[in-house]
Parts: sequence; C-alpha cells; structure tokens
Amino acid sequence: MQTLGTATAAPGEIDTGRLEVGETRDGSPFGLPVAVVNGSQSGDTLYIQAVSDGDELNGLGVIQRLVPQLDPTALSGTILIVGIVNYHAFQVAHHRNPIDDTKMNRTFPGDETGTSSERIAAAVYDAASRADIILDLHQGSTSRMINEVRVRCGRHHRLHTECLELAKVFNCGYILDQKGPDGQLARVGPNEGIPTIDPELGGCIGFDETSIQKGVAGVFNVLRYYDFLEGEGDYEAQTRAKGFEQYGAPAGGIVDFNKSLGERVAPGETIFTITSPFGEPKAEVTADSSGVFWRTRRLPQVASGEYVCSVGTDVDRY
Ligand SMILES: [Zn+2]
Repeated sequence: MQTLGTATAAPGEIDTGRLEVGETRDGSPFGLPVAVVNGSQSGDTLYIQAVSDGDELNGLGVIQRLVPQLDPTALSGTILIVGIVNYHAFQVAHHRNPIDDTKMNRTFPGDETGTSSERIAAAVYDAASRADIILDLHQGSTSRMINEVRVRCGRHHRLHTECLELAKVFNCGYILDQKGPDGQLARVGPNEGIPTIDPELGGCIGFDETSIQKGVAGVFNVLRYYDFLEGEGDYEAQTRAKGFEQYGAPAGGIVDFNKSLGERVAPGETIFTITSPFGEPKAEVTADSSGVFWRTRRLPQVASGEYVCSVGTDVDRY
C-alpha cells in the first residue's frame, strides 16, 4: 500500500484524496488535492508538486493531463502528487499566500508549528522527502518567459551532476544552472540527497497549452529514463545559462522590446526602448553581456527602476 493523506493505493492502483494541513479562517479543515499512483512492479518513488506559487497554473495543467494517461499496471515504482500546494493563494489567484504574505518557495523544509506557508511546506515536504526524485512545477509567474528547467543546488553541490542530468532529461530546451535562494524545494531536496529540479513552464495568465505539453512530455521523459516506464524518452542537448541579468527601466513610460524570447543578444545591442505616451524617445537600453533573451514583463508601462526583462548569460550547450 502507498498512502499520501487520504489517498491510498494498492499495487496497480491509483487513488486521489486530500492531505489535511490545518483550518481556514472560518474554522473549516482544508486539505491539498493529492494523488498516489502505485505501480504493479516495485521501483523508485517520484514526487511531483504544482502551484507552489498560487498564480502559476501550468503545472496543474500538466498534472490534469498526466494523471488520466498513467496506467499503474504498466508502472514500476510509485508517483506521489500534490496538485495544488499553495492552497490559499490559489483560491484568490495570487502569487503569494495571502494568509502570511509569504512566497511558499522560500519556506522549505517548512515547520509544522510555524506560519501558514511553513505548515503547508512541512506537510508537502514530508511527502517529497519519501521520494528518489522531486519535480517542483513552476512557471515565470504571469510574466512572459521561455520554457526552462532550473537547477538550484549550485554547481559545487554533491548532487549537482544528478540534478543537471534530471534537468536535461526533462528536455525543455533551456536550463538555468544557478544556485537559488534559501528555502527553495530545489535547494532543500538535494541537501537530503534527492535530485530535484524546478521546471519553469513558460509564463502566462491561466493556462498556456504549449508550455503544459512541454511539461507533460518532460514528466514522461523522466518516467522512462528512470525506469518507471518502459521505452525511450526524447532527450537533446540543452542551452544552459549559468548567469541571469535583470534589466530595469531607466525612465518611466512605455516599453518596446527589440528582441524576442529565446533570441541571442550580444553586448551593446539594444534590447528595449522606452517612449513617452506621445511616442517621444526617452531611453534605449543595451545588453551588458551576451546571452539569451529569457523573460520579460507582460505589461508595457513601467516606472523608473521597475523590472523590464532578463537575459540568461554565460551560455553553453549541455
Ligand atoms: Zn514559481
């Protein structure tokens, strides 16, 4: 038997249920939607979670499309899934948990007697730490971003090679290989010896079907490569960035981008301009380094100092 919350599956079975974490403001108990897929044959355990940030729905789209395609009688090992981690943020379609105004992915491994976000993180980490591989499905929030996979343990970590291999197998095309901030699941998992990646499935409001299908294909690649399923996956060399430069607006106005997502940029090339509401030129911003045009804000209006876009730098093929 494999159990997660109220979901319990015998070998060859799938079950769904709830992982109870606490109570809402009206005193009702709440639980995160969970699924357990217990393979007929023994094997490793894969943990997948989505909606750690409450406005990042593509990961939920992946899980919704993935689970009906899984046949536990053809599976070796177990898949544990938390479909929606950031319960409170999801209800109101916000990025952060509105109960404590915290970003969930800074609170791992959590604390079962801590803040709202820490309690949720502790509950899901309890499941994640039972796994041999962890996939934490994210996206570039509601910005516009390429499909990429983040390796957050840092390049000197003892599990770096394993995490990078997992990122390559997920096969989004791009990898950001840069140590992340404290409290990220993709930092904490490797510290416990579990290869962990943070696939960033584009950036959109609502669902982006292209990014969701990249994610579904990525999970199936992982299932095949790590012998949960028979068959060969689809793996290619990835474009890897080891640095990430963010650009802000030198003046207020309307942004116009000179580059498309995924396009190469060279130092000194204009990446965006800012004009007044009457179309008068105000500023022109050039790239500091060579790299890949990675992410942009969605709305065209900016205040001086406001975030505009990011370039992945120190790029190679891996
Ligand atoms: Zn996120």
